[in-house]
Amino acid sequence: MPLTMQSRDANAAVTGTPVTDTPPLEYKHVWYAYGAEPVVEDITFAVKRGEFMAILGPNGSGKTTLLKLALGLLRPTRGDVLLFGQPPSHFRDWLKVGYVPQRTEALQNRFPATVREVVAFGLYRGPGLPSISGRSAARAQVSGAIESAGIAALADRRVSELSVGQQQRMLLARALVRKPELLFLDEPVAGVDAAGQEQFHSLMRRLNREMGLTVVIVSHDIGAVMREASTCACINCAMVFHGPVHQLTSRELSDLYGFPVDVLVHDAGHEHSHDALQEHR
Ligand code: ADP
Repeated sequence: MPLTMQSRDANAAVTGTPVTDTPPLEYKHVWYAYGAEPVVEDITFAVKRGEFMAILGPNGSGKTTLLKLALGLLRPTRGDVLLFGQPPSHFRDWLKVGYVPQRTEALQNRFPATVREVVAFGLYRGPGLPSISGRSAARAQVSGAIESAGIAALADRRVSELSVGQQQRMLLARALVRKPELLFLDEPVAGVDAAGQEQFHSLMRRLNREMGLTVVIVSHDIGAVMREASTCACINCAMVFHGPVHQLTSRELSDLYGFPVDVLVHDAGHEHSHDALQEHR
């Protein structure tokens, strides 16, 4: 059975525990510099519970740096990053947070593990910490995550036998196995063919809609983002646009990327109204 992501909220409804309005993620006037020049300049936005937020921007515009700030891998030079209301350095409930890294980063060191073994590693909480659950519960959780990621048939395959798109789904399952409330994805479909990209994005949309997972995705694929995401933040070190995807115009995209980008409307009934994009390079 696929995973159910909203267990904490569902429990809250049953027990009467109030569900807070604290956004899962908030940047407040955040600056960051690796050296003298800032690469993140005065960024402010929040990601609400249940939102599907895309972070768009050209190479080197600070997208990955923003994710690293959220994950506590970097500390802002100025301003505040808040994860469920707390600075990442004080945040302890990391099971609420999933992260799908860029594939190349994640699979640099290949080892002869199966999909199931890699996904199970997502339950590991570090040395000295109690295991997440009993053995059979953990097995069920791993199977559920693999099913949710749409790769049940590949569970016992070795990683080295998988296509790029299949490896990416395995990394997604590894993040889902923790039953996160907030999922970060960094260029998850880089190197995946067009059909695989399409499928991956619609899977993310389904997880977002049906399971209430809050999604923050860094993507190069403007078209897919326009179809699947609900909101977007366009950054080029500073914020260029933040708001609902359907308010994003060709002009803002062209300013962002430095070349003309047309927003084509194919289907007026589509909820985002902008159904496809055409880029002129
Ligand atoms: P993006 O994800 O949008 O491509 P990044 O956040 O990775 O952008 O990088 C933003 C800028 O910071 C780039 O100019 C990049 O070269 C620089 N940068 C990234 N990581 C480091 C680092 N570890 N040390 C120095 N500069 C870095």
